[in-house]
Amino acid sequence: MEKKITVDGLTFVPYITKEEIEKEVKRVAAELRDDLKGGNPLFLCVLTGSFIFAADLIREVGLNDAPVAFVRYSSYEGTSSSGQVKQLMGLKEDISGRDVVIVEDIVDTGLTASLMVEDLKKRNPASIRFVTLLHKPESSKTGFKPDYVAFSIPPKFIIGYGLDLDGKVRNLKDIYVIQDQQD
Ligand code: IMP
Ligand code: MG
Repeated sequence: MEKKITVDGLTFVPYITKEEIEKEVKRVAAELRDDLKGGNPLFLCVLTGSFIFAADLIREVGLNDAPVAFVRYSSYEGTSSSGQVKQLMGLKEDISGRDVVIVEDIVDTGLTASLMVEDLKKRNPASIRFVTLLHKPESSKTGFKPDYVAFSIPPKFIIGYGLDLDGKVRNLKDIYVIQDQQD
């Protein structure tokens, strides 16, 4: 794994390797595959951060009949939540009767997640499951609890594997944490 990197004057150090990510993605995918048996699943990816996790997870779950749809929300400015969740792209697909699997990169305050779940409930899905790559339980402002979590982490700013700093470094294969927040 590469060493430290600098983005916009901030230093980041390696935190979760691509091998560890792969292992946890496989674990969560196996749980989902089991739980979705006999169901009518539809994957709903939350752009932009989840696009890499979703690509790996959905291929690993391996359900050929399940459609994939996208919504887009934005709440972060720099390294912290703005507290305002903006919906930049809504849902066009009909999800009534579907077992919806929301795929998110990270649950931080939980504001995006709770807003989205409330909105989707009005569209008559058969069920809603919430999968996230990362969860920062100590940052919660809503008490929102994801159903599936690959990694539970302390409230530190991280980047890579889809997660950005102002649109940058989503391409990194490993996850990095901001240096002064590392213990
Ligand atoms: P929440 O609404 O506060 O839970 O924030 C959710 C969104 O904020 C996530 O989907 C990410 O896009 C972004 N976010 C939260 N924490 C981080 C982080 O540590 N790095 C990069 N983006 C983050
Ligand atoms: Mg996101």
